[in-house]
Amino acid sequence: MKRIAVLTSGGDAPGMNVAIRAVVRTGLDKGWEVFGVRYGYTGLITDNMVPLGARDVGGIIHQGGTMLQSSRCPEFTTEEGRLKALRVLNQRDIDALVVIGGNGSQAGAHALSQMDYPVIGIASTIDNDLYGSEISIGVDTALNIALEAIDRLKVTASSHQRAFLVEVMGRDCGYIALMAGIAGGAETVLIPEVETDPETVAEELRHAYLRGKTHALVVVAEGARYNASHLARFFEEHYERLGFEMRVTVLGHTQRGGTPSAFDRLLATRLGATATDRLAKGKHGILMGLVKGEIVSTPLAEVVAKKKQLDPYLMSLAKVLAK
Ligand code: ADP
Repeated sequence: MKRIAVLTSGGDAPGMNVAIRAVVRTGLDKGWEVFGVRYGYTGLITDNMVPLGARDVGGIIHQGGTMLQSSRCPEFTTEEGRLKALRVLNQRDIDALVVIGGNGSQAGAHALSQMDYPVIGIASTIDNDLYGSEISIGVDTALNIALEAIDRLKVTASSHQRAFLVEVMGRDCGYIALMAGIAGGAETVLIPEVETDPETVAEELRHAYLRGKTHALVVVAEGARYNASHLARFFEEHYERLGFEMRVTVLGHTQRGGTPSAFDRLLATRLGATATDRLAKGKHGILMGLVKGEIVSTPLAEVVAKKKQLDPYLMSLAKVLAK
């Protein structure tokens, strides 16, 4: 092993920069050259990469986003696109690739490793929907941003007897919504995994009002069957049934741009460092993730084949805690 490349792909997550830094500096420490690929898989196909030295990754540890830029690259989902990428990697004599990203990015990493190219994935997505890591880079920061917003909204809501509905990120996975709901004290949480109709939400809020609550919180994942805009329309028409006046806030991309938390920085550092350690030992075709407090590797084939499930205990606990 002499030369490796690193890229960030798909949705950006706070802490990606920290992982890049760890890969670069631990790679250099092993005597390797490290290249940074710009714009994810697009940069791989178009041969857009730069050598990275220790100083090039200085001053980024506290910055969200990714210094290498990210992208969505439909061409990489085709064999033709991946062959172009493979050619670029071989022309540059790059021995292995580190892919920092979420579900789609790791599917890409797996596809490339099936073409006999050494790839290692690093779990990074604020959706936390990646099998092989209990928590991915960016989740903790995104969750804390959602919570801070919820706490602020709660203060104003209780002064006005209001219900407030907060839409958080999560296209296919309700992890952020469920955890923000539990940690933020939500009356109801709506997630993509469980269909909850607006009638049920209205009923739960009505009961909360009758139990004497001065405010009520609904947390909804963007990918839930009934998302914020749908529920807002419903509650406008059925205002009298709630007891509360409803206000809607969509947090959207504010959850992505935060300064990475201490947890995310340490996780990203450990994942990045272990990725180069595994490469040095000749291991690849795996995803680095956190399981039971340890950094472990899971075959990419397993990562793409299995779907991460939400803990059913936490789903029922959220309901009990809303009493
Ligand atoms: P994330 O990694 O955050 O889940 P996406 O789902 O948008 O983000 O995926 C990022 C990129 O990964 C896609 O634009 C595409 O280039 C690549 N990708 C996704 N799925 C596949 C696949 N099945 N095969 C090859 N590449 C893929």
